[in-house]
Amino acid sequence: MADALLNVQELNVNFTIGKKQYPALREMNFRIGEKERVGIVGESGCGKSLTSLSVMGLLPESAAITRGDIKLFGNSLTAGQGEGWRSARGGKVAMIFQDPMTALNPLMPVGKQIAEMALTHLDVSKKEARQLAMEVMASVGLSRIEQLYTEYPHRLSGGMMQRVMIAMALICKPKLLIADEPTTALDVTIQAQILDLLREMNRSTGTALLLISHDLGVIREVCERVIVMYAGYIVEDAPVEDILEHPKHPYTSALLQALPSVEKRGQLLYTIPGRVPPLEERGEGCPFVGRCPSASGICEKVTPSLSSTAAGRHLVRCHLYPERRVSG
Ligand code: SF4
Repeated sequence: MADALLNVQELNVNFTIGKKQYPALREMNFRIGEKERVGIVGESGCGKSLTSLSVMGLLPESAAITRGDIKLFGNSLTAGQGEGWRSARGGKVAMIFQDPMTALNPLMPVGKQIAEMALTHLDVSKKEARQLAMEVMASVGLSRIEQLYTEYPHRLSGGMMQRVMIAMALICKPKLLIADEPTTALDVTIQAQILDLLREMNRSTGTALLLISHDLGVIREVCERVIVMYAGYIVEDAPVEDILEHPKHPYTSALLQALPSVEKRGQLLYTIPGRVPPLEERGEGCPFVGRCPSASGICEKVTPSLSSTAAGRHLVRCHLYPERRVSG
């Protein structure tokens, strides 16, 4: 089987708090193919952003990979002293963050910030970097480029700033773009435009997309496949249509039930009872056991494996389904 663009294998990440270690990501196994659009969904605290920071090699100091590997085109990013990540960032994999307001340097014109990416990661002169920056600014739908090039971030709207962030990420033509909640800080109209832009970017450049969101509605708009995370585990991984039509994991079903829609107008919105267990309360057994309406005795004692279901490419981590094979 050919190497996937991204291959995350048995990834485990721990946080160290005081003298104790707490598991934050467990047995993460997933692949992203070239040009694929994959979403990761789950509530806050489930490990979505930590997964993207692990792929970028940008974990906070208190967190560390304790087991597993992350491969880009078959080459390990975790081996050595971080050379893999240094050579991958920018040119092969790039990331856009939730809040462009805090991600951009307020003291530097936006055009220069975009051109800096090219100067850092590509073998180009300042003049060429400026030209590339202008081209990519136009490609993400920014207008009045000459004037905008010299503007400071505070002069831009939220939507324009997020387009600048996307331009910064795309200027080096990465093979994989990670977008961590890229529309959370934007109103719904601008959100729709940014999601359109990400889809169009994938179609025209072939850049694969890993989209992180707490909103299954956003994932549905953009992605072909969705990974559902809960308390540091992948609990379901399947094509988007499959998950929307036939969710298998009780947590995914609950997330879908909680989605607002016009059909539910006037009704009380469903909320999932309970909360995601904090790091220090995670133990043996199924991570969802405390909130699951279908839990039984085995769920408290044995952590289920991520296994394929009768539907083939549909993986689920739940004792309700017979284990067919362990992914990896
Ligand atoms: Fe619910 Fe048990 Fe399945 Fe966990 S393993 S989701 S507790 S039925």
